[in-house]
Amino acid sequence: MIKLHIFHTGSVKVDQSIPLHERNPLAVTGLFRGKEKKRVLPVSCYLIEHPRGRILIDTGWDTKFAHERPKEWFGMVDKISAPIIGERDGIDSKLASLGLKDNDIDAVYLSHMDFDHASGIRLVKNAKAFYASKEEIADAKKSKFRYVDTWSGIAEIGAFEYQETGIGPVGKSYDVFADGSVVLVSIPGHSHGIFAVKISVGDKYVILANDGAYVQESFEKKIIPGFTVDNDLAAKSLEWLCTCREDGNCIEVLANHDPGVKEHVVEL
Ligand SMILES: [Zn+2]
Repeated sequence: MIKLHIFHTGSVKVDQSIPLHERNPLAVTGLFRGKEKKRVLPVSCYLIEHPRGRILIDTGWDTKFAHERPKEWFGMVDKISAPIIGERDGIDSKLASLGLKDNDIDAVYLSHMDFDHASGIRLVKNAKAFYASKEEIADAKKSKFRYVDTWSGIAEIGAFEYQETGIGPVGKSYDVFADGSVVLVSIPGHSHGIFAVKISVGDKYVILANDGAYVQESFEKKIIPGFTVDNDLAAKSLEWLCTCREDGNCIEVLANHDPGVKEHVVEL
């Protein structure tokens, strides 16, 4: 049996152009935009309790943002993607609510290394291992504007490599336990290295879409994320997520920032 815990580690305040991919390129910064265009969306992380280990997908916000604002780029980072989190809303508290500590986690896999997914690393720094895709780590080294480095000196993030498996929108994936039960599926678009997670038992499965889709409307109206490195790939990845959503064997497709998704547990 596999148990999937869906946690919310605070929220993120963004311009609606981020979930809804509006054409105005300046809109994602929130500059010259009214307050009514702001949306507060949950920031999810996931614990997978698998017979062969406990895996965390993403780490959410660092709880230090309960007391301070991010200062990067003269406060622009805070304007684009503002953390909202309480002292007890971090991934460490979520694990503690299950009687777990960070050293009970066998591996943390970062779906991608954006601030809202990776800044919580500090809270689980004693996890046994940290990984992100080779592509994501390369981009995080290159783009100091997009990626806020919240891991250096705290955790060593190892690179995993996608294999050509024919699985997913670009036919690439990485099988965590080499048994098909937890597969990281390459869904490029929002970033080059991002993955969705397919968690299966028999024919039934759940998909963690991560930021391949932001909210319900993303699936219903085929809206790609507002921030992308490649719109065509983002559309292809979203299409694949939509196909999974329509499959009778698929229990749920969960978008990371969807306010319609509440904290819950799925047993497979
Ligand atoms: Zn995100």
